[in-house]
Amino acid sequence: MANIKCVGILTSGGDAPGMNAAIRAVTRAAIYNGLEVKGIYRGYQGLLTDEITPFKTNNVSNIIQQGGTILKTARCAEFREPEGRQKAYETIQKEGIDALVVIGGDGSLSGARIFAQEYNFPIVGVPGTIDNDLYGTDITIGYDTALNTIIEAVDKIRDTATSHERLFFIEVMGRDAGFLALNGAIASGAEAAIIPEIWTEVDQLEELIEQGFRKTKNSSIVLVAESDVTGGAMGMADRVKKKYPQYDVRVTILGHVQRGGSPSATDRILASRMGAAAIDALMEDQRNVMIGIQNDAIVYVPFSKAIKNDKPINRDLLNLLHTLSI
Ligand code: ADP
Repeated sequence: MANIKCVGILTSGGDAPGMNAAIRAVTRAAIYNGLEVKGIYRGYQGLLTDEITPFKTNNVSNIIQQGGTILKTARCAEFREPEGRQKAYETIQKEGIDALVVIGGDGSLSGARIFAQEYNFPIVGVPGTIDNDLYGTDITIGYDTALNTIIEAVDKIRDTATSHERLFFIEVMGRDAGFLALNGAIASGAEAAIIPEIWTEVDQLEELIEQGFRKTKNSSIVLVAESDVTGGAMGMADRVKKKYPQYDVRVTILGHVQRGGSPSATDRILASRMGAAAIDALMEDQRNVMIGIQNDAIVYVPFSKAIKNDKPINRDLLNLLHTLSI
């Protein structure tokens, strides 16, 4: 192992349930392997302001079940500039940190990639995002919990939608990715999903909705991924209301409720595996890779692949939704 004695951990960007389980796993696996650990607060911001604390095993006790991140998270504009990254590197040297584990999404790993290249510094990424939009991993930490939060909310909205015979557009997160909307729709028995990857025109949507109203159903639920492409649930509802005034249309934006809550068993196990794998990767002299999971096996995905490629949506799932919503 390339002279790594002390590992710094940070969580960055949008928080996701299961990040704490990942922090715990990284810390414990590092200590188990004889390494020192330092917790860096508020993402890259903490590297600029030197908000760093040595972590022992008990710093991560009793957190596996907690949502959010005990290390806090932030968006740090300064780290996007070379001067900011220079400051971060000076802190890292001062603190005696030899490698970093960055837990975060696409943006956080982009920052990690640039920093690692600029300073020839070992960094391993752990995909923590409810959006599930990182390439090279079947699933990201937080996605399963967010999906479960979505179906719980949609089940409740279904009760009122059915009572009033309404058409509901429910907006879910995902940034520019439709995984939450599509799988949320399948899992909640929604009539349709509007996702940025595969654009559904209003006419097609009407066909879907009419199918739903025609049969035994007296309400319809459509999940819409937040995105400039889809126009979100508000945009969709406005278009449909204008064209088909006969529908009693309502909008619900689920918002930040999707980020919170105790992580599901799937997310806790995933985060534990990925966190420990990040330390394994560093011990194997891996650098500039993201930990991924493919077919239930841990894989190392180069940052360049994880960030740059659009993760494909499985069209079969969209067809399945179509088939099952008649
Ligand atoms: P996420 O990791 O959830 O996608 P963001 O896109 O907000 O979140 O990114 C989190 C942080 O990562 C940013 O605030 C910034 O500090 C850093 N970052 C993102 N993109 C870059 C970049 N191209 N160069 C340097 N740092 C970046």
